[in-house]
Amino acid sequence: MPDSPPHRRIESLAQLKAATMACRECPIGEIATQSVVGEGMLQPRLMLVGEQPGDQEDLAGHPFIGPAGKLLARALEAAGIPREQTFVSNAVKHFKFELRGKRRIHKSPAVREIAACHHWLEDEIALVKPAALVALGSTAARSLMGRAVPVMAQRGQWLPRPDGLQVLVTLHPSALLRVDAEDREAAFEAFVADLRQAKRLFAR
Ligand code: SF4
Repeated sequence: MPDSPPHRRIESLAQLKAATMACRECPIGEIATQSVVGEGMLQPRLMLVGEQPGDQEDLAGHPFIGPAGKLLARALEAAGIPREQTFVSNAVKHFKFELRGKRRIHKSPAVREIAACHHWLEDEIALVKPAALVALGSTAARSLMGRAVPVMAQRGQWLPRPDGLQVLVTLHPSALLRVDAEDREAAFEAFVADLRQAKRLFAR
């Protein structure tokens, strides 16, 4: 990722929210309702990072409350990971979409937009201080690792970051929502199996 522009030190999630609300370092900030920063436990065993807020998250201002978030909650429970002991966020803080009639259709952020938002994610990680990270999909993996990651080839694996934090790679739960109905259960089980790689972090 390119060097981050200079910006003031972020010392709370409220500050991160305010700073990202005002941010226009990429075009997405202009079209979204509001920025959405992460929520959950500070200093958690696990911080899960998705792509960007979705339609419902953009309106409500909270991460992972839509269909993908519900699926993630179900998968974490199946993997034996207490969601209340995690922190969930996104690599990109504003919702990118295109209008089709009155519907706002999700659009994946471009590489330059992921790069622009990267310093906010790193501020958030520095603030939250997780023991380990989960990259939910290729956008999160790219931002967390600073390079393209072949998610399908490396899912279920831990990748080390230069700062020593380990990143567990898996799919974004929204990918499971697009799987054909007959394959959905197997896809869910494979997702749970990936997440189970992080279960040992919660062992007492
Ligand atoms: S998506 Fe990120 S970089 Fe782009 S305007 Fe929003 S906060 Fe800034």
